[in-house]
Amino acid sequence: MSAKELFQETLEIGLTGGIGSGKSTVSAGLVERGAVLIDADAIVRELQQPGKPVFEKMVERWGEKILSEEGELNRQAVADIVFKDSEELLALNEIVHPLVREEIARLRDTYAGGGVPIILDIPLLIESGYEDLDGIIVVDLIPKEAIRRLVAYRGFAEDDAKNRISNQVEREERIKKADFVVDNNGDLNSLNEEIDRAWNWIESLSA
Ligand code: ADP
Repeated sequence: MSAKELFQETLEIGLTGGIGSGKSTVSAGLVERGAVLIDADAIVRELQQPGKPVFEKMVERWGEKILSEEGELNRQAVADIVFKDSEELLALNEIVHPLVREEIARLRDTYAGGGVPIILDIPLLIESGYEDLDGIIVVDLIPKEAIRRLVAYRGFAEDDAKNRISNQVEREERIKKADFVVDNNGDLNSLNEEIDRAWNWIESLSA
């Protein structure tokens, strides 16, 4: 094995887009094609398990009204508080972000040097100032269709879907920061072709 193969550069690609734009679908497709995934939402869910640091801090702030009868986090109760009040949303972000960042940094270290492209699926990637990545993929979808899919396929109440979408950075701003745009306005077959294009682009970066 040559020195170059031994010390292969590990590409780190950010993946972002509005809620419901198709990030999870695209990241799963990129993993199928050979990438490893760091999934910020999965990390948040893990750190929100009873006894974990994010859970403890949230209960400290909002008390037992955000818990289910089983003593787990009641996500709807949290959503009802934070998506109607920007100060509460800020407070939630101040609890969640530093701890998630720490875990993301730990995973990046773990995968570094493996030579396998790392996809960082981070909903607020652009707002969070991850400047040191090798590229940013933005999954793009018109908001109206994102709302429709969230309601139809992921069980969101329509108001909740609308509130969440308007809380995210404007679509145009996101696209401006993209190195590669995945268009998810078509059906799942055309999304699959878009994922092929994205994978080819990632491979071209390491060539
Ligand atoms: P995100 O992770 O960005 O919130 P998802 O990948 O979960 O978005 O996509 C939202 C929903 O829309 C999911 O149920 C997904 O299966 C579905 N979906 C994604 N892309 C398409 C598409 N092109 N056509 C139809 N449904 C789609």
